[in-house]
Amino acid sequence: MSFDLSDKRVYVAGHRGMVGSAIVRRLASESCEVLTADRSLDLRDQRAVNDWFAQERPDAVFMAAARVGGIAANDAYPAQFLYDNLMIEANVVEAARRAATAKLLMLGSSCIYPREANQPISEDALLTGPLEATNQWYAIAKIAGIRLCQAYRIEHGCDFISAMPTNLYGPGDNFDLDTSHVLPALLRKAHEAREAGEAEMTVWGSGKPRRELLHVDDLADACVFLMREYSGAEHVNVGSGEELTITELAQLVARTVGFEGRLAFDSSRPDGTPRKLLDSSRLKAMGWRPSIPLAEGIAATYRDFLSEGGRRVRLDG
Ligand code: GDP
Repeated sequence: MSFDLSDKRVYVAGHRGMVGSAIVRRLASESCEVLTADRSLDLRDQRAVNDWFAQERPDAVFMAAARVGGIAANDAYPAQFLYDNLMIEANVVEAARRAATAKLLMLGSSCIYPREANQPISEDALLTGPLEATNQWYAIAKIAGIRLCQAYRIEHGCDFISAMPTNLYGPGDNFDLDTSHVLPALLRKAHEAREAGEAEMTVWGSGKPRRELLHVDDLADACVFLMREYSGAEHVNVGSGEELTITELAQLVARTVGFEGRLAFDSSRPDGTPRKLLDSSRLKAMGWRPSIPLAEGIAATYRDFLSEGGRRVRLDG
């Protein structure tokens, strides 16, 4: 039986972030009331979160609030990545139970899987081996988030589910070179190198790791789909199947931006996980498909970067 969103009060936690803002955009075409909290609500503050839920009483929650960042940020802020994410998840899940929220969707990440997981990575690879060191802090918090939903389902009968997206990109991304993920970083570097007439742009690591990329508007659509159609303890992978090496990605970005110089590889920077391709066949079998091709999505993200001036620095989801 599907969960009907019509006339529901739907809270999007983390609505200023790339994922949360995409979910808010997607919900605009549903006949539900979208709730967001302003900056004064600190999701790490248990009492404040309980009070907010008691007052607003959302029927459904998209849990897209998180401390997020790329390979360098994870390394630089291990305590923030672990503590903030554990607190945010625990507070929102418990407050949702207390407020009798009927459904909650927890968002995780593909970095929850073991570094050496078989590819493509299916949901049951979780906790079968050691994590990739460069993002273990975030990964541990996200694994705890999945387990929280499962525990609340068992002990309290809550219909709380989890979705694990692959590497995401799109409008609202973080273009700060110290904390961003690879795609916004490459867009910015290619743009600045072209503007400055430089002969090369720097790419971190060897260029050999492979990454699968999903446009955040596709993820938002999958989240609404899962909220409606899925009810189960097992988390669900959300991928695009579009995978390429970092070198290929940098070449695609350079073409999009019109940078014609060379790529220079900085081997002092880490490669991270060699490959992270999700097996999204469970979601596919339920009837969902992504619709934004990578080249098109990258061009749209570049337009977003240009319109924003690429000045945003964002560490909070
Ligand atoms: P990850 O998917 O968790 O490893 O996070 P990232 O998106 O930050 O990095 C993905 C891959 O892109 C890693 O192999 C990075 O070394 C590589 N990469 C190449 N250039 C850059 C860059 O300028 N910024 C970032 N963040 N990663 C880069």
